Formats: sequence, C-alpha cells, structure tokens
Amino acid sequence: MARRTKKLKQAAKFGARYGLRPKRKWLEIDRIQRQKHICPVCQRKAVKRVSTAIWQCRKCGAKFAGGAYVPETKKMQEILAKFERLLEEEKKMRKEMMKKEEE
Ligand SMILES: [Zn+2]
Repeated sequence: MARRTKKLKQAAKFGARYGLRPKRKWLEIDRIQRQKHICPVCQRKAVKRVSTAIWQCRKCGAKFAGGAYVPETKKMQEILAKFERLLEEEKKMRKEMMKKEEE
C-alpha cells in the first residue's frame, strides 16, 4: 500500500484542510525558501531566511528585507526599476526648475 503522505510530503501536516492545490503551492514555496540564496553584498551563496521577509547572509552577516519567501522577488525588481526611473525623472525636473529660477 502506498504511503498516505507520499504526494504531499511536508504539506501533509495540514491534513485534510486547504485542498490539494494550495498545498502543492506551499510545497513549492517551502522548497525555495529553504534553499540558500546569493548574497547581494558578498555574492556568496549563503543567504538564509531568518523570518518572514528577513534574510541574512551566513558569510558576511548582511541582514536585509526581501520577499516573504524568496530574498528577491520579480515584483521587487520591477518596483526597483520603476523607482529608479522615477528618481531620474525627478532629477530632470529639479534641473529644469533650477534653470527657471535662474532666469
Ligand atoms: Zn554576504
């Protein structure tokens, strides 16, 4: 007889709750968050999750906030890119304003 918890592994702890799809999703997330990630400071693969959205590098000790389950999410990169663009635009606007003030 096949083991009851074969397919769901650790997600079996949820028992009959939540249904199969969220449990599969949880397994995927759990697998990723347990892996070591690359440190943005020293580039070594030693970053582990301390708690939700908090990550720390085991090598250089750098502690930083990130995604709840992965240190850097796609969404974050998108937001950062947008933020940089906004900063550039603000710089330009300031320069233009200063020019007008000088005139
Ligand atoms: Zn590091």
